[in-house]
Amino acid sequence: MAGTFLETPIEYLKGVGPERGKSLRAELSIECFADLLSYYPFRYVDRTKFHKTTELDADMPYVQLKGKIISMEVIGKSRPQRLVAVFKDDFGKIDLVWFQGIKWVKNSIKPGTEYVIFGKPTVFNGKFNIAHPEVDEVNEENLKLQSALQAMYNSTEKLKLKGLDSRGISKLVRALMQTSDNKIPENLPVEIINSNHFISRGSAFYQIHLPANPELLKKAELRLKFEELFYIQLMLLRQKAINQKIYHGFRFGSIGEHFNAFFKNNLPFELTNAQKRVLKEIRSDVGSGKHMNRLLQGDVGSGKTIVALMTMLMALDNGFQACLMAPTEILAVQHFESITALLKGMNIKVGLLTGSSKGSARKQIHEQLLSGEMHILLGTHALIEPIVQFKNLGMVVVDEQHRFGVEQRAKLWRKNVNPPHVLIMTATPIPRTLAMTLYGDLDVSVIDELPPGRQPIKTIHLFDSNRLKIHGFMKEQIKLGRQIYVVYPLIEESEKMDYKDLMEGYESMLRAFPRPEYQVSVVHGRMTAKDKDFEMQRFQKNQTNIMVATTVIEVGVNIPNASVMVIESAERFGLSQLHQLRGRVGRGADQSYCMLVTSFKLSADAKLRLETMCKTNDGFEIADVDLRLRGPGDLAGTQQSGLPDFKISNIATDGAILTEARNAALKILEDDPQFSQPKNNVIALYLNFINRNKQDWARIS
Ligand code: ADP
Ligand code: MG
Repeated sequence: MAGTFLETPIEYLKGVGPERGKSLRAELSIECFADLLSYYPFRYVDRTKFHKTTELDADMPYVQLKGKIISMEVIGKSRPQRLVAVFKDDFGKIDLVWFQGIKWVKNSIKPGTEYVIFGKPTVFNGKFNIAHPEVDEVNEENLKLQSALQAMYNSTEKLKLKGLDSRGISKLVRALMQTSDNKIPENLPVEIINSNHFISRGSAFYQIHLPANPELLKKAELRLKFEELFYIQLMLLRQKAINQKIYHGFRFGSIGEHFNAFFKNNLPFELTNAQKRVLKEIRSDVGSGKHMNRLLQGDVGSGKTIVALMTMLMALDNGFQACLMAPTEILAVQHFESITALLKGMNIKVGLLTGSSKGSARKQIHEQLLSGEMHILLGTHALIEPIVQFKNLGMVVVDEQHRFGVEQRAKLWRKNVNPPHVLIMTATPIPRTLAMTLYGDLDVSVIDELPPGRQPIKTIHLFDSNRLKIHGFMKEQIKLGRQIYVVYPLIEESEKMDYKDLMEGYESMLRAFPRPEYQVSVVHGRMTAKDKDFEMQRFQKNQTNIMVATTVIEVGVNIPNASVMVIESAERFGLSQLHQLRGRVGRGADQSYCMLVTSFKLSADAKLRLETMCKTNDGFEIADVDLRLRGPGDLAGTQQSGLPDFKISNIATDGAILTEARNAALKILEDDPQFSQPKNNVIALYLNFINRNKQDWARIS
């Protein structure tokens, strides 16, 4: 049976045994031969190159030196002792130091013999030394064992105590390679291998651990990345197909009264082509009887709200209720107000439920939902509490989903016998590659067009020494009748300090913009919802010129007359946050501005973030840079999203391979969904293998 060799428990490998086996399992989840093979090196060291003792630099992660040990001395009479050896090459000398295993090292080193030394140089007492270096005698046998590119493996303190540092792991891998001839089964169909010119699976494993040269290493990486991404896509796509079979969605057979009346009488503007296209996509989902699970991506200000509303009307027209869940109270209230206004004159009952809804109002809402009297419910996560029950919920819209965990979304699904249709809206554009991996089981719609008449926001970066200039500009804009946001960072760990920054900023604003000529309001996380709301309202009604705030205004707030966004300590914000904040302006017809204010001291990453913001308004471009800077794990909202653990691929940089892999998976699922053709037998076998050895993969399906 395929896979049995690879499934051999790790203890049985020469050089492992029960004790090391236990540690490998506990520390690195290496249970069997296959796990060791896919414990990939994190770096390769070119062992054909030697440094000179005279060119060391404390920033070097490691160096390789060739020379002799000319003297050794144990320093200290009792513990802790250390062994210091003087190492000399053709250029100079450095110290090698051991704090452990002193006796053994001392006995095994032969003065006068030529050695290759490998380790990280550090500075001690103004001199370079290397602590616990690898020491290899220069002889035929050692040279043979080493490939030019030596693999380096991550290890842990516990494993190192058992002799399994990078070198120890490397030895195990080598031992495994020696017994694995022809025992590593192929897991990709011949067609895919041939058309992509892939090397075999066996040689890919060999070359990734013991590369003969850089070209073969590249080929091995490509093959293994493809294989990893191919199987992730195959499983996601297959799951999607299965879901569609199991879960039947409510069929919204017709578009009727509400939708049409709204379109005819209440729609305040012409829909953009992108909005129309997305509505058609949604319409076709809900009309088909399949269960809709759709991600709607649209940059800030692209007009997602109206799409959400019209989607909910489709549900109403078919006798269902709908709800929309927003991430913050401010947003929920804003949705309630704008949707109530949009539905004016129509016979539709809309409710608002948030954390601060009063007991009696809450009770009434619960009753109206159960009786079916309430048609549309808007709110915060208060919506997902089990006590909130609907008569017949048919459509759930989740706004700005990155604030919601997967688990919370799932709870909403359970609010009817069949899961309601789900539309998840996000203004954090997710790069295509990430969307494919994260949401391989969702359909994706994109609003890639802004409503007409918008001018691109002008973004500039300024140092805080230019404050007078900034204030001058703000005053000009206020004279023109515009309103301004000034935002301070809020980072949870240092909430106290941030609060202080914010309040100091507020006070300095009050000094620079004195009453009664100017009105300045403030909103922050420590205020009660009611006070926040009051201040927001004042700003919304244009009763104040400047709104000083923390990132509470980050998502969704829509005040078209606000045309300047000043972001203080902009270097402390992530790219997607900066983009979200900037999206608060540029919503009206006026030219809008975003000013990124920072100190002089900027890290390279911060500089790149600021440059990116000044260069582009395109959310997708920004998301790509963000992904590159931060890696997928850090992207907003992806932490709990079940992003699989990639062993070798990097979705920030392997987008092209991912696309290939996905297309290959799609083609196979189309041709042969059960993998029953002989040529696809390898897939069936490998999927069985994965199922038997689930751990990492369990999270995907
Ligand atoms: P977001 O996608 O960020 O949620 P909103 O739905 O809040 O964007 O819309 C932003 C602004 O654009 C709102 O003031 C909205 O009324 C307006 N808007 C939306 N669609 C259109 C359109 N087709 N034409 C003109 N204005 C529009
Ligand atoms: Mg919005």
